[in-house]
Amino acid sequence: MMVIMKDGATDEQIQHVVDKLHEVGAEAHISRGEFKTIVGAIGDRETIQQIPLEALPGVERVIPIMKPYKLVSRQFKEEGTVVRVGPAELGGKKFTVIAGPCAVENENQLLESAKAVKEAGAHILRGGAFKPRTSPYSFQGLGEEGLKLLSKAREKVGLPVVTEVMDPRHVTMVSKHADMLQIGARNMQNFLLLKEVGMQDKPVLLKRGLSSTVEELLMAAEYILRAGNQNLALCERGIRTFETSTRNTLDISCIPIVKRESHLPIIVDPSHATGRREIIIDLARAAIAAGADGIMVEVHPDPCVALCDGPQALTFDDFAELMEGLKKIALAIGREI
Ligand code: PEP
Ligand code: MN
Repeated sequence: MMVIMKDGATDEQIQHVVDKLHEVGAEAHISRGEFKTIVGAIGDRETIQQIPLEALPGVERVIPIMKPYKLVSRQFKEEGTVVRVGPAELGGKKFTVIAGPCAVENENQLLESAKAVKEAGAHILRGGAFKPRTSPYSFQGLGEEGLKLLSKAREKVGLPVVTEVMDPRHVTMVSKHADMLQIGARNMQNFLLLKEVGMQDKPVLLKRGLSSTVEELLMAAEYILRAGNQNLALCERGIRTFETSTRNTLDISCIPIVKRESHLPIIVDPSHATGRREIIIDLARAAIAAGADGIMVEVHPDPCVALCDGPQALTFDDFAELMEGLKKIALAIGREI
């Protein structure tokens, strides 16, 4: 249920509503908009309906949230959420570009990549220290050593960093080094991990599961907001379909759908969506045109020798070309880059 407060409702009146909800064991989540404050009442509907909420001072009306997701819904919070990652932001007017290698391999590879992507205009550096690999014999990432290299790259190059956390036991360690924690596609429904990143205060990037619906993505996001962390951005990274010409199928339609359903920012990862370097620039353009708040792309100094995802890594020149194309579209649709 959403308890819509009157314009100018006082803090005491809002608190009174919250107290009444707590009295019956319901949760109260406050969303303060520019004009209105909404108290999201979450719990057993019949119990909540026993409170005469509409009669409480300062309450304008009470309406049910029909969707299974509540806190992430646009109905609960009308204005788009802007997630700040160091000096960068996701969800504002700016189109944000996250770039870097699939995996942190060594200091040179990371620093070279960081410098090149910054120079071409990227806003956030990516790089995996813990890699979710299909085969246990593949490179698994440098672990904590990789995190330290990411911290070093931030200091030397001046870009905030996003990196994946795969294990609830690693959340504290990863959040010490990262500016944003990534939940990978394979862990989208690792509910313990979602709760854990929801309880710490670094922003989170939640990638859509390989075979997950938009509703499942939003329900996974709900776990993180419910645990207390409102700084969440979503990422469409392609889904499994019958098509074999690309690694996955980029579901471009999920961008306007998520935008309608949720106030959370959404970005697109055309690298994992396609697995093919030569079509990444085209899909990045499609993403910005369809209303995405940013992209995440993989870039490597020498893709032929990459330890992970070489075929989808852009060279530094490719990346510079991608940025130039995006700038033109950004200008045409009134976004900054
Ligand atoms: C990644 O971004 O490093 C990654 C492994 O992507 P995904 O979880 O989308 O497969
Ligand atoms: Mn990768």
